[in-house]
Amino acid sequence: MNRPAPSFTSKATSVTAGSVARRETRATTGVAGTLRALDVRPSRRLGQNFLSDPRVAERIAALALEGDDAAAPGASAPPAPGPILEIGPGLGALTEHLAASGRPFVAVELDLRLAEHVESLLRPYPNARVVRGDILDQGLDALLPGSEPVTVVANLPYVITSPAIAWVLEQGPRVTRAALMTQREVAQRLAAKPGTKEHGSFTVFLALHAALRIEFRVSPGAFHPRPDVDSVVFTVIPRPYPGTTAAERSAVERIVRAATGGRRKTLANSLGHGLDIGAEKARAVLTRAGVDPGRRAETVSVEEWIAVARAEGGTG
Ligand code: SAM
Repeated sequence: MNRPAPSFTSKATSVTAGSVARRETRATTGVAGTLRALDVRPSRRLGQNFLSDPRVAERIAALALEGDDAAAPGASAPPAPGPILEIGPGLGALTEHLAASGRPFVAVELDLRLAEHVESLLRPYPNARVVRGDILDQGLDALLPGSEPVTVVANLPYVITSPAIAWVLEQGPRVTRAALMTQREVAQRLAAKPGTKEHGSFTVFLALHAALRIEFRVSPGAFHPRPDVDSVVFTVIPRPYPGTTAAERSAVERIVRAATGGRRKTLANSLGHGLDIGAEKARAVLTRAGVDPGRRAETVSVEEWIAVARAEGGTG
Protein backbone atom coordinates (compact mmCIF):
# COMPACT_ATOMS: atom_id res chain seq x y z
CA MET A 1 0.00 0.00 0.00
CA ASN A 2 1.26 3.55 -0.74
CA ARG A 3 1.96 5.55 2.39
CA PRO A 4 1.07 9.27 2.31
CA ALA A 5 4.17 11.46 1.94
CA PRO A 6 5.19 13.03 5.29
CA SER A 7 4.11 16.63 5.65
CA PHE A 8 6.26 19.27 7.32
CA THR A 9 3.65 21.95 8.09
CA SER A 10 2.74 22.11 11.77
CA LYS A 11 -1.01 21.85 11.01
CA ALA A 12 -0.54 18.85 8.77
CA THR A 13 1.84 17.28 11.31
CA SER A 14 -0.75 17.52 14.04
CA VAL A 15 -3.38 15.96 11.75
CA THR A 16 -0.96 13.13 10.96
CA ALA A 17 -0.22 12.62 14.65
CA GLY A 18 -3.92 12.58 15.40
CA SER A 19 -4.63 10.00 12.77
CA VAL A 20 -1.79 7.82 14.05
CA ALA A 21 -3.25 8.06 17.54
CA ARG A 22 -6.66 7.12 16.13
CA ARG A 23 -5.19 4.13 14.33
CA GLU A 24 -3.50 2.99 17.55
CA THR A 25 -6.77 3.37 19.46
CA ARG A 26 -8.48 1.23 16.83
CA ALA A 27 -5.83 -1.46 17.09
CA THR A 28 -6.07 -1.80 20.86
CA THR A 29 -9.85 -1.78 21.20
CA GLY A 30 -12.73 -3.65 19.64
CA VAL A 31 -12.41 -6.98 17.86
CA ALA A 32 -9.02 -6.23 16.30
CA GLY A 33 -7.58 -5.19 19.66
CA THR A 34 -8.93 -8.24 21.46
CA LEU A 35 -7.54 -10.54 18.76
CA ARG A 36 -4.19 -8.82 19.05
CA ALA A 37 -4.20 -9.11 22.85
CA LEU A 38 -5.02 -12.82 22.58
CA ASP A 39 -2.47 -13.27 19.78
CA VAL A 40 -5.16 -14.90 17.63
CA ARG A 41 -5.36 -14.69 13.84
CA PRO A 42 -8.93 -15.37 12.65
CA SER A 43 -9.28 -18.81 11.10
CA ARG A 44 -11.10 -19.06 7.78
CA ARG A 45 -11.57 -22.81 8.30
CA LEU A 46 -13.50 -22.10 11.51
CA GLY A 47 -15.55 -19.37 9.83
CA GLN A 48 -14.19 -16.74 12.21
CA ASN A 49 -15.81 -13.49 11.08
CA PHE A 50 -16.45 -11.87 14.43
CA LEU A 51 -19.37 -9.53 14.97
CA SER A 52 -17.97 -6.07 15.68
CA ASP A 53 -21.16 -3.99 15.65
CA PRO A 54 -22.67 -3.97 19.17
CA ARG A 55 -26.08 -2.85 17.84
CA VAL A 56 -26.36 -5.95 15.69
CA ALA A 57 -25.30 -8.11 18.65
CA GLU A 58 -28.00 -6.53 20.81
CA ARG A 59 -30.62 -7.09 18.12
CA ILE A 60 -29.78 -10.77 17.74
CA ALA A 61 -29.76 -11.30 21.50
CA ALA A 62 -33.14 -9.55 21.81
CA LEU A 63 -34.54 -11.72 19.03
CA ALA A 64 -33.39 -14.83 20.86
CA LEU A 65 -34.52 -13.71 24.31
CA GLU A 66 -37.81 -11.99 23.60
CA GLY A 67 -38.83 -12.97 20.09
CA ASP A 68 -42.46 -13.67 19.41
CA ASP A 69 -43.45 -17.01 17.96
CA ALA A 70 -45.41 -15.90 14.94
CA ALA A 71 -43.22 -18.05 12.68
CA ALA A 72 -44.49 -21.25 14.25
CA PRO A 73 -47.73 -22.25 12.50
CA GLY A 74 -50.07 -23.78 15.04
CA ALA A 75 -48.01 -22.69 18.04
CA SER A 76 -50.50 -21.86 20.80
CA ALA A 77 -48.26 -19.84 23.11
CA PRO A 78 -44.65 -18.73 23.26
CA PRO A 79 -42.52 -21.26 25.11
CA ALA A 80 -41.50 -20.50 28.69
CA PRO A 81 -38.02 -18.99 28.92
CA GLY A 82 -35.59 -21.87 29.38
CA PRO A 83 -31.89 -22.53 28.94
CA ILE A 84 -29.86 -21.01 26.13
CA LEU A 85 -27.20 -22.70 24.00
CA GLU A 86 -24.77 -20.59 22.00
CA ILE A 87 -22.80 -22.23 19.20
CA GLY A 88 -19.36 -20.67 18.61
CA PRO A 89 -19.24 -17.72 21.06
CA GLY A 90 -15.95 -16.54 19.52
CA LEU A 91 -14.88 -13.37 21.31
CA GLY A 92 -18.22 -13.15 23.08
CA ALA A 93 -20.12 -10.53 21.03
CA LEU A 94 -23.47 -12.18 21.84
CA THR A 95 -22.42 -14.15 24.88
CA GLU A 96 -22.71 -11.64 27.71
CA HIS A 97 -26.12 -10.42 26.53
CA LEU A 98 -27.33 -14.00 26.71
CA ALA A 99 -25.65 -14.95 29.98
CA ALA A 100 -26.93 -11.75 31.63
CA SER A 101 -30.50 -13.02 31.15
CA GLY A 102 -29.87 -15.24 34.19
CA ARG A 103 -31.15 -18.27 32.28
CA PRO A 104 -29.01 -21.42 32.32
CA PHE A 105 -26.47 -20.83 29.57
CA VAL A 106 -23.89 -22.96 27.81
CA ALA A 107 -21.58 -21.93 24.96
CA VAL A 108 -19.81 -24.53 22.81
CA GLU A 109 -16.57 -23.32 21.21
CA LEU A 110 -14.17 -25.38 19.10
CA ASP A 111 -11.25 -22.92 19.23
CA LEU A 112 -9.56 -23.50 22.58
CA ARG A 113 -7.95 -20.03 22.65
CA LEU A 114 -11.36 -18.38 22.32
CA ALA A 115 -13.01 -20.79 24.74
CA GLU A 116 -10.60 -19.65 27.45
CA HIS A 117 -11.31 -15.99 26.68
CA VAL A 118 -15.08 -16.50 26.82
CA GLU A 119 -14.71 -18.42 30.05
CA SER A 120 -13.07 -15.37 31.61
CA LEU A 121 -15.91 -13.13 30.33
CA LEU A 122 -18.43 -15.48 31.88
CA ARG A 123 -16.85 -15.56 35.34
CA PRO A 124 -19.44 -13.15 36.83
CA TYR A 125 -22.32 -15.38 35.66
CA PRO A 126 -22.84 -18.49 37.81
CA ASN A 127 -25.58 -19.64 35.42
CA ALA A 128 -23.13 -19.86 32.49
CA ARG A 129 -20.40 -22.23 31.33
CA VAL A 130 -18.26 -22.96 28.29
CA VAL A 131 -17.84 -26.38 26.70
CA ARG A 132 -14.77 -26.92 24.50
CA GLY A 133 -15.46 -28.97 21.40
CA ASP A 134 -17.26 -29.38 18.11
CA ILE A 135 -21.00 -28.72 18.40
CA LEU A 136 -21.64 -31.55 15.95
CA ASP A 137 -20.15 -34.03 18.46
CA GLN A 138 -22.33 -32.87 21.35
CA GLY A 139 -25.71 -34.01 22.60
CA LEU A 140 -28.16 -31.44 23.94
CA ASP A 141 -29.11 -33.48 27.00
CA ALA A 142 -25.49 -33.70 28.13
CA LEU A 143 -24.97 -29.96 27.54
CA LEU A 144 -28.16 -28.88 29.27
CA PRO A 145 -29.67 -31.69 31.33
CA GLY A 146 -33.38 -31.38 32.12
CA SER A 147 -36.57 -31.04 30.17
CA GLU A 148 -37.03 -27.29 29.79
CA PRO A 149 -37.34 -25.83 26.29
CA VAL A 150 -34.02 -24.64 24.88
CA THR A 151 -33.21 -21.62 22.69
CA VAL A 152 -30.21 -21.91 20.37
CA VAL A 153 -28.30 -18.80 19.30
CA ALA A 154 -25.40 -18.54 16.86
CA ASN A 155 -23.51 -16.40 14.44
CA LEU A 156 -22.79 -19.61 12.56
CA PRO A 157 -19.46 -20.47 11.03
CA TYR A 158 -20.92 -20.52 7.53
CA VAL A 159 -19.04 -23.71 6.59
CA ILE A 160 -21.20 -25.71 9.01
CA THR A 161 -24.51 -23.89 8.51
CA SER A 162 -26.47 -26.88 7.18
CA PRO A 163 -24.92 -29.49 9.53
CA ALA A 164 -25.47 -27.16 12.50
CA ILE A 165 -29.15 -26.64 11.59
CA ALA A 166 -29.55 -30.40 11.08
CA TRP A 167 -27.93 -30.85 14.52
CA VAL A 168 -30.46 -28.44 16.06
CA LEU A 169 -33.37 -30.32 14.48
CA GLU A 170 -31.98 -33.71 15.53
CA GLN A 171 -32.02 -32.72 19.21
CA GLY A 172 -35.76 -33.38 19.37
CA PRO A 173 -38.60 -31.25 20.68
CA ARG A 174 -36.60 -29.57 23.47
CA VAL A 175 -35.27 -26.94 21.04
CA THR A 176 -38.18 -24.57 20.57
CA ARG A 177 -36.38 -21.71 18.86
CA ALA A 178 -33.10 -20.88 17.16
CA ALA A 179 -31.92 -17.36 16.29
CA LEU A 180 -29.12 -17.77 13.77
CA MET A 181 -26.97 -15.78 11.39
CA THR A 182 -25.14 -16.92 8.29
CA GLN A 183 -24.15 -15.66 4.85
CA ARG A 184 -27.10 -14.35 2.87
CA GLU A 185 -26.66 -16.80 -0.02
CA VAL A 186 -26.69 -19.74 2.36
CA ALA A 187 -29.81 -18.50 4.15
CA GLN A 188 -31.52 -17.94 0.81
CA ARG A 189 -30.89 -21.60 -0.05
CA LEU A 190 -32.55 -22.62 3.19
CA ALA A 191 -35.68 -20.62 2.40
CA ALA A 192 -35.65 -21.19 -1.39
CA LYS A 193 -38.88 -21.67 -3.32
CA PRO A 194 -39.32 -24.78 -5.51
CA GLY A 195 -38.13 -24.22 -9.06
CA THR A 196 -35.32 -21.85 -8.09
CA LYS A 197 -31.76 -23.05 -8.43
CA GLU A 198 -31.22 -22.68 -4.67
CA HIS A 199 -34.01 -25.17 -3.89
CA GLY A 200 -32.41 -28.47 -2.88
CA SER A 201 -32.83 -31.51 -0.67
CA PHE A 202 -31.80 -29.56 2.46
CA THR A 203 -34.54 -27.00 1.79
CA VAL A 204 -37.10 -29.81 1.78
CA PHE A 205 -35.58 -31.42 4.89
CA LEU A 206 -35.76 -28.12 6.73
CA ALA A 207 -39.34 -27.40 5.68
CA LEU A 208 -40.37 -30.86 6.90
CA HIS A 209 -39.06 -30.19 10.39
CA ALA A 210 -39.18 -26.44 10.97
CA ALA A 211 -40.56 -23.04 10.02
CA LEU A 212 -37.90 -20.56 8.98
CA ARG A 213 -38.20 -16.81 8.92
CA ILE A 214 -35.67 -14.35 7.54
CA GLU A 215 -35.43 -11.52 10.09
CA PHE A 216 -32.91 -8.92 8.92
CA ARG A 217 -29.83 -8.37 6.83
CA VAL A 218 -26.40 -7.48 8.20
CA SER A 219 -23.77 -5.76 6.08
CA PRO A 220 -20.12 -6.91 5.82
CA GLY A 221 -18.99 -3.83 7.77
CA ALA A 222 -20.49 -5.32 10.96
CA PHE A 223 -17.76 -7.99 11.09
CA HIS A 224 -14.03 -8.34 11.56
CA PRO A 225 -12.50 -9.56 9.39
CA ARG A 226 -14.94 -8.16 6.88
CA PRO A 227 -16.55 -10.91 4.75
CA ASP A 228 -17.18 -10.39 1.01
CA VAL A 229 -20.93 -10.84 1.26
CA ASP A 230 -23.96 -9.79 3.31
CA SER A 231 -25.22 -11.93 6.16
CA VAL A 232 -28.75 -12.64 7.27
CA VAL A 233 -30.29 -13.26 10.68
CA PHE A 234 -33.10 -15.80 10.67
CA THR A 235 -35.20 -17.76 13.15
CA VAL A 236 -35.88 -21.46 12.99
CA ILE A 237 -38.88 -22.79 14.89
CA PRO A 238 -38.75 -26.60 14.93
CA ARG A 239 -42.13 -28.23 14.26
CA PRO A 240 -43.29 -31.27 12.28
CA TYR A 241 -44.74 -30.35 8.88
CA PRO A 242 -48.49 -29.91 9.58
CA GLY A 243 -50.63 -32.98 8.87
CA THR A 244 -47.75 -35.44 8.48
CA THR A 245 -46.70 -38.46 10.53
CA ALA A 246 -43.10 -39.25 11.52
CA ALA A 247 -43.17 -42.20 9.07
CA GLU A 248 -44.26 -39.91 6.23
CA ARG A 249 -41.52 -37.41 7.01
CA SER A 250 -38.81 -40.07 7.01
CA ALA A 251 -40.23 -41.52 3.76
CA VAL A 252 -40.01 -38.06 2.18
CA GLU A 253 -36.38 -37.74 3.30
CA ARG A 254 -35.53 -41.16 1.83
CA ILE A 255 -37.27 -40.36 -1.46
CA VAL A 256 -35.79 -36.88 -1.84
CA ARG A 257 -32.30 -38.27 -1.14
CA ALA A 258 -32.90 -40.94 -3.78
CA ALA A 259 -34.25 -38.48 -6.34
CA THR A 260 -31.61 -35.80 -5.95
CA GLY A 261 -28.48 -37.96 -5.61
CA GLY A 262 -27.58 -38.40 -9.29
CA ARG A 263 -27.33 -36.37 -12.46
CA ARG A 264 -30.47 -37.68 -14.11
CA LYS A 265 -32.70 -34.92 -15.36
CA THR A 266 -36.27 -36.14 -15.06
CA LEU A 267 -37.95 -37.21 -11.85
CA ALA A 268 -39.00 -40.57 -13.32
CA ASN A 269 -35.40 -41.43 -14.16
CA SER A 270 -33.79 -40.12 -10.98
CA LEU A 271 -36.40 -41.66 -8.69
CA GLY A 272 -36.43 -44.96 -10.60
CA HIS A 273 -32.66 -45.16 -10.30
CA GLY A 274 -32.41 -43.86 -6.72
CA LEU A 275 -35.10 -46.17 -5.36
CA ASP A 276 -33.95 -49.03 -7.60
CA ILE A 277 -37.49 -49.56 -8.95
CA GLY A 278 -36.87 -48.53 -12.56
CA ALA A 279 -38.26 -45.56 -14.47
CA GLU A 280 -41.61 -47.24 -15.32
CA LYS A 281 -42.58 -47.88 -11.70
CA ALA A 282 -41.33 -44.45 -10.68
CA ARG A 283 -43.49 -42.89 -13.39
CA ALA A 284 -46.54 -44.71 -12.02
CA VAL A 285 -45.85 -43.54 -8.45
CA LEU A 286 -45.41 -39.93 -9.60
CA THR A 287 -48.56 -40.02 -11.71
CA ARG A 288 -50.55 -41.41 -8.75
CA ALA A 289 -49.21 -38.48 -6.69
CA GLY A 290 -50.27 -35.98 -9.36
CA VAL A 291 -46.66 -34.98 -10.13
CA ASP A 292 -45.52 -34.84 -13.74
CA PRO A 293 -42.75 -37.49 -14.13
CA GLY A 294 -40.97 -35.27 -16.68
CA ARG A 295 -40.26 -32.53 -14.12
CA ARG A 296 -36.91 -31.98 -12.42
CA ALA A 297 -36.49 -32.78 -8.72
CA GLU A 298 -35.67 -29.19 -7.70
CA THR A 299 -39.10 -28.00 -8.89
CA VAL A 300 -41.02 -30.29 -6.53
CA SER A 301 -42.57 -28.66 -3.44
CA VAL A 302 -42.70 -30.22 0.04
CA GLU A 303 -46.45 -30.88 -0.35
CA GLU A 304 -45.76 -32.71 -3.61
CA TRP A 305 -42.96 -34.80 -2.05
CA ILE A 306 -45.38 -35.77 0.71
CA ALA A 307 -47.91 -36.85 -1.96
CA VAL A 308 -45.17 -38.89 -3.69
CA ALA A 309 -44.25 -40.60 -0.41
CA ARG A 310 -47.91 -41.45 0.19
CA ALA A 311 -48.32 -42.75 -3.38
CA GLU A 312 -45.19 -44.85 -3.04
CA GLY A 313 -46.85 -46.45 0.01
CA GLY A 314 -43.67 -46.79 1.97
CA THR A 315 -44.79 -44.56 4.82
CA GLY A 316 -45.40 -47.33 7.36
N1 SAM B 1 -20.31 -15.58 18.05
C1 SAM B 1 -19.12 -14.87 17.67
C2 SAM B 1 -19.51 -13.55 17.02
O1 SAM B 1 -20.69 -13.39 16.69
O2 SAM B 1 -18.64 -12.70 16.86
C3 SAM B 1 -18.24 -15.69 16.71
C4 SAM B 1 -18.91 -16.11 15.44
S1 SAM B 1 -17.79 -16.81 14.25
C5 SAM B 1 -18.76 -16.57 12.80
C6 SAM B 1 -18.02 -18.57 14.46
C7 SAM B 1 -17.46 -19.15 15.77
O3 SAM B 1 -17.75 -20.56 15.79
C8 SAM B 1 -15.97 -19.04 15.93
O4 SAM B 1 -15.67 -18.63 17.24
C9 SAM B 1 -15.44 -20.46 15.68
O5 SAM B 1 -14.24 -20.72 16.34
C10 SAM B 1 -16.59 -21.29 16.20
N2 SAM B 1 -16.71 -22.62 15.58
C11 SAM B 1 -16.38 -23.00 14.33
N3 SAM B 1 -16.72 -24.28 14.10
C12 SAM B 1 -17.29 -24.73 15.27
C13 SAM B 1 -17.83 -25.99 15.66
N4 SAM B 1 -17.86 -27.02 14.83
N5 SAM B 1 -18.31 -26.12 16.93
C14 SAM B 1 -18.28 -25.05 17.78
N6 SAM B 1 -17.78 -23.84 17.46
C15 SAM B 1 -17.28 -23.68 16.22
